[in-house]
Amino acid sequence: MTATIHIADVIKHYNKVEAVRGVSFDLAAGEMVALIGHNGAGKTTLMKMMLGLIRPTRGTIAVLGENPAAGEFSSRRQLGYLPENVAFDAALSGRETQTFYARLKREPVQEALALLDIVGLGDAAKRRVNTYSKGMRQRLGLAQALIGRPRVLLLDEPTTGLDPELRQTFYDVIQKLAAEGTTVLLSSHALTELEERAGRVIIMNRGLKVADGTLEELRRLARLPTRIRVKV
Ligand code: ATP
Repeated sequence: MTATIHIADVIKHYNKVEAVRGVSFDLAAGEMVALIGHNGAGKTTLMKMMLGLIRPTRGTIAVLGENPAAGEFSSRRQLGYLPENVAFDAALSGRETQTFYARLKREPVQEALALLDIVGLGDAAKRRVNTYSKGMRQRLGLAQALIGRPRVLLLDEPTTGLDPELRQTFYDVIQKLAAEGTTVLLSSHALTELEERAGRVIIMNRGLKVADGTLEELRRLARLPTRIRVKV
């Protein structure tokens, strides 16, 4: 079976900065994977290459079987992205924001509005975004990323700064999407009990992939205690 995301021997240099130094992994449909690493580990750079925003210096990237940096990349609409610092026009309501992005992406507005219920913002849809908590804004960002029901979701540090309850809600939503077949890659600074729910974990350090496996596999390798709170 073809991987939804295929990364092979990818290297990315920004002038003299070696941001990604030879990374390979494949993600399958319906997989939910946590990409863990410190600041500067190369997580955002990898996501930008998957989005086709920047090209690898060397190596191969395929998303849904295509090169995302190619001009004719036809799968772009099947990719949803939540950037690390998502910003919205505070004067718009959640509903107006979602309508705006649906029109921008040329997707049906009613379907986009229904996503507000999925992320738990149905009751707050008519409120202006400047009354939203950080968690609500993150979930609005997720609703925006979900417009057009993409097959691949890239979430850059989606739960940083959220309180534990909001983190749970956020994860409940994306876990359900993954169960329905969406491939979800989410980055985080640390492996907490929430990222453990992802099932598979890829750990990056200074541009290198240093671990990749299920939690069980990683625990066996590292002989970690059963409850882990590893800061990488
Ligand atoms: P963070 O948790 O801070 O988002 P990250 O794991 O996403 O970190 P990247 O943002 O991919 O890491 O950065 C990897 C390295 O590449 C860092 O040393 C960073 O300073 C460098 N870098 C990233 N973008 C650029 C750029 N546009 N030009 C030059 N260097 C860059």
